[in-house]
Amino acid sequence: MNDYDVIVAGGGPGGSTAAAFTAMDGHRVLLLEKETFPRYQIGESLLPATIHGICAMLGLRQEIQRAGFVVKRGGTFRWGADPEPWTFAFAASPRMAGPTSFAYQVERSRFDTLLLDNARRLGVDVRHRHRATGAIRDGGRVVGVRYVDHAGREQVSTARFVVDASGHGSRLHEAVGGRREYSPYFRNLALFGYFLDGGRMPDPNAGNILCAAFSDGWFWYIPLSATLTSVGAVVRHEAAAAVQGDPETAYAALIDRCPLIKDLLRDARRAEDPPYDRLRVRKDYSYDRTVLWCPGMALVGDAACFIDPVFSSGVHLATYSGLLAARSINSALAGLVPEDRCFTEFEARYRREFGLFRDFLLAFYRLDTDEQSYYGQASQVSGHPGAGREAFLDLVGGVTASDFSRRILDDVLAEGAELQLRGVLGDAAGDEPPMFPGGLIPSPDGRRWVEPDV
Ligand SMILES: Cc1cc2nc3c(=O)[nH]c(=O)nc-3n(C[C@H](O)[C@H](O)[C@H](O)COP(=O)(O)OP(=O)(O)OC[C@H]3O[C@@H](n4cnc5c(N)ncnc54)[C@H](O)[C@@H]3O)c2cc1C
Repeated sequence: MNDYDVIVAGGGPGGSTAAAFTAMDGHRVLLLEKETFPRYQIGESLLPATIHGICAMLGLRQEIQRAGFVVKRGGTFRWGADPEPWTFAFAASPRMAGPTSFAYQVERSRFDTLLLDNARRLGVDVRHRHRATGAIRDGGRVVGVRYVDHAGREQVSTARFVVDASGHGSRLHEAVGGRREYSPYFRNLALFGYFLDGGRMPDPNAGNILCAAFSDGWFWYIPLSATLTSVGAVVRHEAAAAVQGDPETAYAALIDRCPLIKDLLRDARRAEDPPYDRLRVRKDYSYDRTVLWCPGMALVGDAACFIDPVFSSGVHLATYSGLLAARSINSALAGLVPEDRCFTEFEARYRREFGLFRDFLLAFYRLDTDEQSYYGQASQVSGHPGAGREAFLDLVGGVTASDFSRRILDDVLAEGAELQLRGVLGDAAGDEPPMFPGGLIPSPDGRRWVEPDV
C-alpha cells in the first residue's frame, strides 16, 4: 500500500507545476519543501510560455495578473559588435502576437508562493520545512522518499512516483543514476544585488530585461517594481577568487566598468530591506545530466539541468519539465500508456527544449558578431522555417521546441506556442501532431500523453 501516488521534493516552479498537474488528475500528492515560503530565489525574468501556457493551464493567469508584476514586453541587449542597444519585442513574433505577447518580471518569493498555494488549493499536501534526504529503492525502482520533518524527525513515505524538483543544490537527483556534467563552456559566476530608484528605459521598453555585455562579461538589469531593480553581473569563472574574496568591492568595480549600467544606477542606492539587502554569488551553474529518469522517479527543473540565464529560460524549463513529468505520471497511473514509453517522451522533449537554448547560447556568447548573426543562428538552431528574426523571437519567448528537421517542422507548431494555445483555448486547442516520429501527443486537456490516431 503506497502512502501517496506522487511525492514531489521541492516547491519551486518545477515542483509546484508537477504537483499541481498530478493533483488535478485526481492523485494523492505530497510535496516536501525544505524552506518556509515565501523564500528568496533568483530567476526573476519570465517568458510568455510560462504565463500564458503553464500558468493558464493551472488556472492562475488572472491571479498573476492581479499580483501587479512588471510587464515584460521583450528584451534589450547591448551585445555584440553593435555599440547601440537593440530591442526585441515578443509581439514582433507572429506566434506570440496579440494578448500573449508579454511576460512578467517577478519577485520570485511572491511568484513561487502563488504557484505553491495554488498546488495546495488543488489538493496537494504541501509540507514546509520538510527536507528530502534520499530516495527509497525496491529492486530497480524508486518507491519513496526519506525526509526530515519540521520537528527534526526522520520519516519515510512511499509513492508510485517520485519527482525530484529540489533545484541545483540538493543531491537527490543522484538516485536516478548517471551523473551531472558541468558545461566546460558556461563556467560562469554571477554576482547579484538590488537597487532602489535605478533608471528605466523609455517606454515601451521600461519593463524589459536589459542585458549589457562589457569587457568582463555581462549585466542583467531587471525592473521588479517602480523602484526596485535586480542587477547581476555574470563573469567568467576565472574571476571567482577576486569576487569571492571581496564581493562588494568586486561588484562596485564591475558596475563601474559597464557604462550603460553605471549610468542607469547614477541616482540609485542599494536596497536595505530583506531579502534584497544582500549581495549574492552563484558559480558554475550550467550543467546537464546523462540520465533524467529511472523507473519510479523523474527529475525536473534545476535538479535535472540548467543553462546560463541570459535568455531567462530557467523557469520556463522548470515548469515545462514539470508538466512533461506530470503528463507521464498521469498517463502511467491511468494505465493508458506504458511507463517507459511515457518517460521516453518526457526525456526526448525535455532534452530537445534544453538543447535549443544551449546551442543558441553558445552562439550568443560569441560577442564579436552582430545582431543579424544572432538571428541567423537562431534560425539554424531551431530549424525554424521563418526569417531569422522570427526564429530568434520564438526561441527567447520559450516557444521553440520543434524538430530540427525542417520537413517535419513545417507541419508542427512550436511547443511553447502549443502551450500558449492550450492555455488560452483549453480543449478547443485541438490535437497536436507528435513531436517525434512514433511519439506521443498531449491529451486535449494537456495533462496526459495519448497515442496519436494513425
Ligand atoms: C544567476 C542566475 C540568474 C537567473 N535568472 C533567471 C531569469 O532571469 N529567469 C529565469 O527564468 N530563470 C533564471 N534563473 C534560473 C532559475 O533560478 C531556475 O532555473 C529556477 O528557479 C528553477 O526552478 P526549480 O523549481 O527547478 O528550482 P528552485 O526554484 O531552485 O526550487 C527548488 C526548491 O526545492 C527546495 N529544496 C531544495 N532541496 C530540498 C530538499 N532536499 N527537500 C525539499 N525541498 C528542497 C528549495 O528550497 C526550493 O524551494 C537564474 C539562475 C541563476 C543562477
